[in-house]
Amino acid sequence: MVDHDTFNHKIQLLKEQYIKNRVLFIDGRDVIELLIMLGSTEDDLNNLQNISEKLYADPTLNFRQSRNGRFCYRAREEKIYRTKFQPFVLSTEEDFIRHDSGKVRNFVGLNEDLVNNLAFQNLLKIKYTLISDMRFNQRNFLDYTSEDWITTLFHLRTITTPKILGEPALEGVHSDGVDHTMTTLLGHHNMSDDSAITHIHSMNEKSGIRVDDINQEFLLNKFQHKKFLDTVFIVDHERKHSLTPLFPKNSTEIATRDMLIFFTRKPCLPNHISYQYDSVDAHPDYPVSFSALKKGVINENK
Ligand code: FE
Repeated sequence: MVDHDTFNHKIQLLKEQYIKNRVLFIDGRDVIELLIMLGSTEDDLNNLQNISEKLYADPTLNFRQSRNGRFCYRAREEKIYRTKFQPFVLSTEEDFIRHDSGKVRNFVGLNEDLVNNLAFQNLLKIKYTLISDMRFNQRNFLDYTSEDWITTLFHLRTITTPKILGEPALEGVHSDGVDHTMTTLLGHHNMSDDSAITHIHSMNEKSGIRVDDINQEFLLNKFQHKKFLDTVFIVDHERKHSLTPLFPKNSTEIATRDMLIFFTRKPCLPNHISYQYDSVDAHPDYPVSFSALKKGVINENK
């Protein structure tokens, strides 16, 4: 059963921290507690831990497996639904500098077991509740008059082998081209303790540089996703980020790191590079729709 007061109180504390710091780390144990309060079962949580075995070779990165999909949060109807499949593109204008910047990528769609998992659906609900009514620096060519939020979800496995080093962010210091990024760990195997450290930088840091070359003056936080469901939120147009590689504990074996990456932004306006790939039409063949949490857990008073 949902204890609304306890849930709202916990969300409110997290939201206050996020508003103050513009980034937020939520310990996986706290995420589990929130998910259970929203009705997720032990089965849902167990299934999430093992759901990354059915990913596919990434279109452009040889050390990664991936799937992706899109969801729309329609605030006035308090519902979240899966949109039809759309290709994906990120450009240098969005501070994403990589060999595949500007390339239109078509990923394999999300696993149905993930999309229908209640714990997963509750993660999306929590994200929308945390970002609702928050003020932040707006990007060009996004429609801030819209009540809708679009989330592109990436389900990713980074893989390091004895021959290939897996890079959770090959692009170095970057932004994701969205309003709010949320990253959640599902699991890892043979990952060393100094692996995949998320670095948060001020906007003064140069995009595209390697973590080794960053200016310590612009470094604001460091986090490591270590436990199941450890989660980071970032106000993406106010903070840049970068990650260290995935190093193996035992270098003769492969290492893996499984993540859900939630890219959330307002719908595109015509001059945006993703405008033609930004449909809010529901998925025509396999609709998935569920209720969002009631709006306005707290309001930002400033
Ligand atoms: Fe990123």
